[in-house]
Amino acid sequence: MTVNIAIDGPAGAGKSTVARAAAKELGYIYVDTGALYRAVGVYALKNGIATRDAENIEKMLPGVTVELRFIDGEQQVFLNGENVSGEIRTPEASMAASDVSAIPAVRSFLFDLQRDIARKNNCLMDGRDIGTVVLPDAQVKIFLTASPEIRAKRRYDELIAKGSAVSFDEVLEDLKKRDYNDSHREIAPLKPAENGVIIDTSYLTFEESVSKIIETAKEILDE
Ligand code: C5P
Repeated sequence: MTVNIAIDGPAGAGKSTVARAAAKELGYIYVDTGALYRAVGVYALKNGIATRDAENIEKMLPGVTVELRFIDGEQQVFLNGENVSGEIRTPEASMAASDVSAIPAVRSFLFDLQRDIARKNNCLMDGRDIGTVVLPDAQVKIFLTASPEIRAKRRYDELIAKGSAVSFDEVLEDLKKRDYNDSHREIAPLKPAENGVIIDTSYLTFEESVSKIIETAKEILDE
């Protein structure tokens, strides 16, 4: 049986960077499931389909192929054969992902792909519903969070470093909107798993956050 660590939490809690580093240290693959929803969102944007239009989004799905490949241990996401790993990281793609992720057909479309990776690999999988829905039997379930302001500041710094011309207020507003969408949707809302461990990274450094995840995972796996 493979070892699966589920890491869920809101946008900007540091999941991608912290979880990636923890996975590396543990020797597991790191799976960022947000990239899948982003790819579906980007496909809709590219094809002029409104991202909240559940009916048309569902109709477009048969024409969509999303695939994760691990190149030198790094996840790359392919949309209909094209590597869109860079393209999915814009604020528009974030919002499109949040919109399409509330559509049940999109969630079931991406479900098997996520399960399949976890069945075949020791992995640390990051998302919103991994411990609650996708991998309810994961040996370790962590809910990584931080205050909205701190998460927005981290996201803002990231975007500025990439050369985006965004304002802090815009980032904070977007993040609050996404938090609301993600935790209020009917299907697979963002919430800690019942038997999960909550880690608040608001006042932890990057290294402290990574150590905390590793310690938590080791403690549980050694039991
Ligand atoms: O994690 P990331 O910010 O890339 O996720 C983008 C969006 O995809 C989230 O705001 C959320 O709406 C959605 N998502 C989801 N379930 C997951 C991962 C991401 O609904 N497992």
